[in-house]
Amino acid sequence: APRQQRDTDAPRDDTADCPLIPVVGGDVRVPLVDGSETRYINLDYAASAPALEVVAAHITEVLPLYASVHRGAGYASQISTAVYENARVVVGDFVGARPKDTVIFTRNTTDSLNLLASVAPGETVVLDLEHHANLLPWLGAASGARVLRSAATLDETLTLLDAELTARPAALLAVTGASNVTGEVLPLRRLATLAHRRGTRIAVDGAQLVPHRRVDIAALGIDYLAFSGHKTYAPFGAGVLVGRSDWLDAGDPYLLGGGAVISVTLDATEWRVGPARHEAGSPNVIGVAALARALQELDTLDPVEWVAHENELRARLVSGLEALPGVSTYRIFPDLGDAVGVVSFSVAGLDSRLVAVVLSAEWGIGVRDGKFCAHPLLERLGVAGSALRASVGVGSRQADVDALLTALASILADGP
Ligand code: PLP
Repeated sequence: APRQQRDTDAPRDDTADCPLIPVVGGDVRVPLVDGSETRYINLDYAASAPALEVVAAHITEVLPLYASVHRGAGYASQISTAVYENARVVVGDFVGARPKDTVIFTRNTTDSLNLLASVAPGETVVLDLEHHANLLPWLGAASGARVLRSAATLDETLTLLDAELTARPAALLAVTGASNVTGEVLPLRRLATLAHRRGTRIAVDGAQLVPHRRVDIAALGIDYLAFSGHKTYAPFGAGVLVGRSDWLDAGDPYLLGGGAVISVTLDATEWRVGPARHEAGSPNVIGVAALARALQELDTLDPVEWVAHENELRARLVSGLEALPGVSTYRIFPDLGDAVGVVSFSVAGLDSRLVAVVLSAEWGIGVRDGKFCAHPLLERLGVAGSALRASVGVGSRQADVDALLTALASILADGP
């Protein structure tokens, strides 16, 4: 049982410390191993973020008129089709899509990147710091991929990348917007300029960036952006691929089936162009409606206030962790200052899984432990075995961070 007073039940109306946007489950209570209960502290937003309250309310509203889309003449079908197609516009607007860009709904970021890999007309270059979702689809693509080992600093890595793309041109550079291990935000405008100078397009894995920052693909020069609804406060199973339509319209359909075709005879199939080409079958209308509603809510945030909220939480987390004896946090590049609220760390002498289990069972705190689907990066960072990761978002409060720091201090003082 914990030996210190828990600090997880701070009142929610504490105006100095409240979520930026209320989320479902912000007050949920969970059982502890000693038979008591406490407010659940969700510090695992990077794995899957809680739904915004407005998203849950919206889904309750649209469900009564849920029906199949694009094919039914009934009233509910017309409404569902309008909800689905309107969501495409909302998503495109939110990420600053160009008028000719295609917005395709998928299952998640992994699905989006596999789709893009299936239509890429030439080799892709990736760095060794990616989540497996932005590594394995390229390595498995018919068009091929090259993995570039990142250098000790960002500047040196950009120089290496430039030399690589100059020496051997590639169709695409696929890079993460923010690391799912360290939260570091890559300089996307610089990367886009660097790639475009060599005739290479850029695809951004936005799984960890879009939930934390405004991303304007036209302004940044990003050709493709992929992200997941469940990490963007809409955990209803929809994802997105947005980007230039030419490769997407020329490539083979990603899924074969109804809705993707203009006509079918037993001798020939005429495929559509546009999003329908890759969205065969009945789409996830509810997931898409949820995602659009979440983005509309994020759109109401003042971007400066949004970043300030997360910077404050991140700074509190990093400085608190580093002040604990034996706790170390990880960074990829010492010359990269910008980062979202995702922090990985290790506790010297303690197994990460054990720490995560004790945090959950004795303190009601949810963190991630493991290798974060980024094995090459963890090796590069010198992580022995696995690590721990705490992550925050718009529903997080300083009290959540403080609860983790209190629990870790207790575990360090008295043992797990
Ligand atoms: N890319 C990054 C940076 C991620 O953090 C994740 C999920 O953790 C993914 C891609 C894969 O996302 P999904 O599981 O939603 O496909």
